Amino acid sequence: MEFRRICDDTSDMGNWEMAHNHVFVKNGEAWYRDFEREISVRDLMREICSKHGSLADAGDMDNDTLDELLADDLQYGTGDLDGIFAMFYRSLYGMADIRAWLEVYEKHGLPTTMRPEVLQQAVDAYGKEAQTDMAIEEMSELSKALLKHRRAEKYPEAWDYERTRQNIYEEIADVIIMLTQLLMIYGGREEIQKDIDIKVSRLAERLKNKAKEADDTKERTERILLRLHEAGGCGAQDGYAEGWDEAITEAIRIVEEETGTRIEEVLE
Ligand SMILES: [Mg+2]
Repeated sequence: MEFRRICDDTSDMGNWEMAHNHVFVKNGEAWYRDFEREISVRDLMREICSKHGSLADAGDMDNDTLDELLADDLQYGTGDLDGIFAMFYRSLYGMADIRAWLEVYEKHGLPTTMRPEVLQQAVDAYGKEAQTDMAIEEMSELSKALLKHRRAEKYPEAWDYERTRQNIYEEIADVIIMLTQLLMIYGGREEIQKDIDIKVSRLAERLKNKAKEADDTKERTERILLRLHEAGGCGAQDGYAEGWDEAITEAIRIVEEETGTRIEEVLE
């Protein structure tokens, strides 16, 4: 079975996976789990402290008091059980926080190497200029792979779709390896992180505005369709009224075609 670093389903979790996943963040709080149960880390500490520590009334403590006392108990270190419980508590919520960060990274972060020293050796051995040139080459190879795949999507009979997709993966790997080296050459990790945060926030704002605009437009379209519908006749008999009805029907059809909103949806 494939080893998963971050996972939540305990039904098919091995011990090693459990070791990486027995604490996690839920609703902004650290939680503990094993194969039998899930419990908030604070409740777990309430249970442990009231059973074995000197905080016999821990079960009734509010979160702030419990946190404060456990932080205080850190001063005892391994000298007594309260100190050990305090260390245990700190390890659990710290691990839960790191796991939450890693979860985002594992799902959405760029894949990376666990051997960055090899890439640093490459920069040292071949030089900054050569590795910068290599980065430029790899980025253009990725551009080419993307274009080829686009062509394969359009003309599947002439191009091997799977092969062009694999080629994209290979070229993305090359680009990531070279981007890592560019970071080693030019530095700026913190600035880049700040830029990413700012740009993603701006993008989120733009997307929110776009969604709002789409909502407003749909609402306006629905109002127009409704008004046109109400302006229509109902089984008109004379020639003029029949013409009016036909014109209204045609107007509704045009609005439907142009906007994709159907009068039936509006009337529902
Ligand atoms: Mg390449």
